[in-house]
Amino acid sequence: MLYSELAGFYERLEKTSKRLEKTEILSELLQNLKHEKDKSIIYLVKGRIFPDYDSREMGISSQLAIKSISKAMGISAGEIVKKWKSIGDLGKVAEDITAKKKQATLSGGTRLTTEKVLENLKKLPGMQGKGAVEKKISLIAELLSTASPLEARYIVRTLLGDLRVGAGEGVLRDAIVWACLNKEEKENYVLVQEAYDKATDFALVFEQACRGREALQETELAPGRPVKVMLFLKVKDIKEAFETVGKPLAAEMKYDGFRMLINKDENGQIRIFTRRLDDVTKQFPEVKEYTKRYVKADSFILDGEAVGFNAKTRRYMPFQEISQRIRRKYDIEKMAKELPIEINIFDILYYNGKSLIKEPFKSRREILEKIVKGKRWQLVLAEQIISGKEEEIEKFYKKALAEGEEGIMLKKLDAPYKPGARVGYGVKLKPEENDFDLVIVKAEYGTGKRAGWLTSYTVACQQDGKLLETGKVSTGLKEKEEEGLSFMEITKKLKPLITGEKGREVSVKPELVVTVTYQNIQKSPTYSSGYALRFPRFTRLRPDRSARDIAFLSEVEKEAKRQVRK
Ligand code: AMP
Repeated sequence: MLYSELAGFYERLEKTSKRLEKTEILSELLQNLKHEKDKSIIYLVKGRIFPDYDSREMGISSQLAIKSISKAMGISAGEIVKKWKSIGDLGKVAEDITAKKKQATLSGGTRLTTEKVLENLKKLPGMQGKGAVEKKISLIAELLSTASPLEARYIVRTLLGDLRVGAGEGVLRDAIVWACLNKEEKENYVLVQEAYDKATDFALVFEQACRGREALQETELAPGRPVKVMLFLKVKDIKEAFETVGKPLAAEMKYDGFRMLINKDENGQIRIFTRRLDDVTKQFPEVKEYTKRYVKADSFILDGEAVGFNAKTRRYMPFQEISQRIRRKYDIEKMAKELPIEINIFDILYYNGKSLIKEPFKSRREILEKIVKGKRWQLVLAEQIISGKEEEIEKFYKKALAEGEEGIMLKKLDAPYKPGARVGYGVKLKPEENDFDLVIVKAEYGTGKRAGWLTSYTVACQQDGKLLETGKVSTGLKEKEEEGLSFMEITKKLKPLITGEKGREVSVKPELVVTVTYQNIQKSPTYSSGYALRFPRFTRLRPDRSARDIAFLSEVEKEAKRQVRK
């Protein structure tokens, strides 16, 4: 496919904010794509070059993009930065410069293909070491120097991971239905979503959907590819838990760490993913070892929670302290010793060549008990009791809190495992706390002593694939890095995500997820969600979560109502 065609679709998508129109445009694009051999063009639609779970990153900062534009167009970096400050979008800057240059040279239309764009972009992630930066710049400049103005806009935005055409997971799912199946049948949307939650690869789901409903339904889990994890509802007491999951139920400790999916494929290869589908196999070499040692099966997908502990005192540590291991790229062995983790396995989704997700939880747990022979402080099964008696669960809950756990999970014994869904197959019970996981979408530079640091942040929740602002947060952070979560740390994390700048305010790629604790919620016309959190403060960073995992507007609404009732 010509890249100019794709850019045309991008432009149409960008021009409308109406979901149905977006779906229509995308489904037209997918109709064209049906005849292409290489379905990976579909990744470009979401501004990516690999499936969602593939952690290879192009690694292009705004600075590198500026250098590439400079090289391709023969304009100084300083001039590009100046334009960027006034326009606020590097994609548009590249477009403007290309338009002026094309006018001057009177060159004709381009023949840039999506294949060529993918080919060059796919080379970027592997490049490291001496000369890598120069090579990256050359590969990008090669594309930009042949691109039309519109193509330049989207190439640059793709590089920065900020396509801004508003085609998220939900719209893409609907468009696949429109392009391949009967769009009037509600069931088809569910089928495509379920296939995606199992396969986490849109190219594969699209191919299956093109073959029809049966093929789609046959989409199965495969160890080596992560699945979207099952999520849990919140309950306020044990009675509500019984109402939701039935009696008797399985109660388990709720460990305070981060979700980990451990996969072993038929070739014995072990891969580890977080719930945001990030591949963290390299970061956790000890988990690979423990899995080999303590889990006896040819292939599997295990679901569990990794919890950090102090190597000397053997006390569990707050999530914040071990979270740095998730992103760590160097000194990994040293880190593994300093910040050890214990894996608590609580579910199994795939076992010896077969998917288990339709099996009841009780049978899945039985398999786990058969194949996992764990060891404390390394890899263990989640502590569990089965009971229908309120007093027994109450005792277990108290024990969990006394041991410093976050609370308990209460699970339905005959429930299947539903990837990606927050259905009532399990619920969590923890002491009341007002907090939401939200994503930072904008930030503001401070003044005076704080000049140079981003010190105030606009956070957002989600609904129907859109991000909706829920207020500004500027407290809860330290002035000095040594003292804990600081302005400096957040600024460092946000800087590479900056996509636009106006005055003191910057917009950022919605990637940094934070837990925000608040006192209450107010209706507010200032923010696009219609709500503002009052007295919000940061309590922790959530590098294990992505913008897809943040709170839904419906949850914010529910809490706001609950608060009114109180
Ligand atoms: P929350 O993060 O408050 O939505 O709580 C749900 C999370 O608790 C899950 O996504 C897991 O990461 C974590 N968790 C800890 N222990 C368990 C357990 N025994 N079963 C299921 N999830 C658990």
